[in-house]
Amino acid sequence: MAVRTFSRGLKLDTRKRATEGKPVEPAPFPRQVVIPVNQHFGAPNKVIVAAGDRVTRGQRIAEGAAPGPMTVPVHASISGTVKKIEPRLQANQTDGLCVIIEAGEGEDPSSAVFMPPLDPLSGAREEALQRIRDAGIVGMGGAGFPTHVKLAPPPDKAIDVILANGAECEPYLTIDEAVITEKPRTLITGLAAVMKITGVKRAIIGLEDNKAELVPVLEEEIRRNEYTKNLDVTVGLCRTLYPQGGEKMLIKALLNREVPSGGLPMDAGCIVQNVGTLVAVAEAFTLGKPLIDRDLTVSGGACRTPKNIRVPIGTLITDLPPEFMALDNDRLRKIIFGGPMMGNAAVTAAIPIQKNTSGVIFMTREETLADSEGPCVHCGRCIRTCSCRLSPVIMNIALESGDLNQAVRAGLMDCVECGSCTYVCPARIKLVQRFRVGKQRLRAAKAMSQMQTRAEKKQEQAPPPPEKVTGSSNPGRA
Ligand code: SF4
Ligand code: SF4
Repeated sequence: MAVRTFSRGLKLDTRKRATEGKPVEPAPFPRQVVIPVNQHFGAPNKVIVAAGDRVTRGQRIAEGAAPGPMTVPVHASISGTVKKIEPRLQANQTDGLCVIIEAGEGEDPSSAVFMPPLDPLSGAREEALQRIRDAGIVGMGGAGFPTHVKLAPPPDKAIDVILANGAECEPYLTIDEAVITEKPRTLITGLAAVMKITGVKRAIIGLEDNKAELVPVLEEEIRRNEYTKNLDVTVGLCRTLYPQGGEKMLIKALLNREVPSGGLPMDAGCIVQNVGTLVAVAEAFTLGKPLIDRDLTVSGGACRTPKNIRVPIGTLITDLPPEFMALDNDRLRKIIFGGPMMGNAAVTAAIPIQKNTSGVIFMTREETLADSEGPCVHCGRCIRTCSCRLSPVIMNIALESGDLNQAVRAGLMDCVECGSCTYVCPARIKLVQRFRVGKQRLRAAKAMSQMQTRAEKKQEQAPPPPEKVTGSSNPGRA
């Protein structure tokens, strides 16, 4: 089988050995979960339960605050009582509203009520999209984009191929590999459901070549699966190279297509779905199960029990019993939610696991890069490394001088935040962190100017104020 790739990229020490080949171990059910109300990219949710309410695992507890497609509901992941609804620290290191549920003495937190099953292939497209939305499914490998929106591109975007993303290029993370190994049938069913919804007849499951042993497993399942009988589903191997799992890089490697600047995968005729998301889609149909559990890798040199685990969403790693998950606090130097290249550094592990948390990494001093930043030495390594062909050093200079427009002209909004430039920079300049902040500032500035425009329009449309009746007592008038 030919091994495909994209240009540039980094050959990283993958550091996957500690959890590679390990099964997904379900953690003991926690007695308490802290469930963030907003775990998706889009419009905010509102809480629809109150403190003191009894809730059942699988029950909806938050949903879109206003009508519109860019929201997905959030569900209780354990059965119990809503104790509090209050802001808590989240994986992105900001405080966000959370619903805190506790299971009482003698209560079974795992008892659940799901939706009735639905055949993924026989129903109408709208019904299938509604099921995916009702299940609260978002992209589990990235920013949490609502899956039902991704699967309904505008009619002018001709999609001819679905890519299932199993590349998993981040160091340490092995959860996608574990999920493919354990649930190939569910994965293929989810893929077939997505193909039915979009009407696309061709799909490729992309893997890095360090997971080549999964190719025959998947090919066998594709051959046997009743749902893929009349579909063209294949497995594509890509070189183990960072950031191969980025959508743009996967599209380039598997299809030799470019996503245009400022564009999305649909502009290159494809939809990319993480393999974990496809499993969640299948379970939403076959089990009626909403997205309430998360499989993830917990690893790093300061984790005594590195493994792939399954936890209810909202679980705090610190609440897991020490015989299941133990840390070496003396050696712990850095906690990362997600992978070490694209994840968020956290000040504590007592942060809830979310729908898009693919891993938590507990790193020692030896595993982390030195933190002290030096001046740019103009070596050009960041430019040579960037697989999006951007000029990180120019973007950084523009951001440092507060010139957001210049940063955008240099490609800020095309940056996929892969962190490769930061990794190779000999001056240890935190380039990707600056780009994230720059993008946030840009979005905030845009939102502010939209608000201003709306306010001005409102003012223009408002009826003129009634004329003032002035009397002779006004000394300023004749
Ligand atoms: S500029 Fe963005 S896309 Fe390019 S290497 Fe840096 S983080 Fe990755
Ligand atoms: S890699 Fe670092 S030191 Fe080299 S040009 Fe880029 S920002 Fe400057």
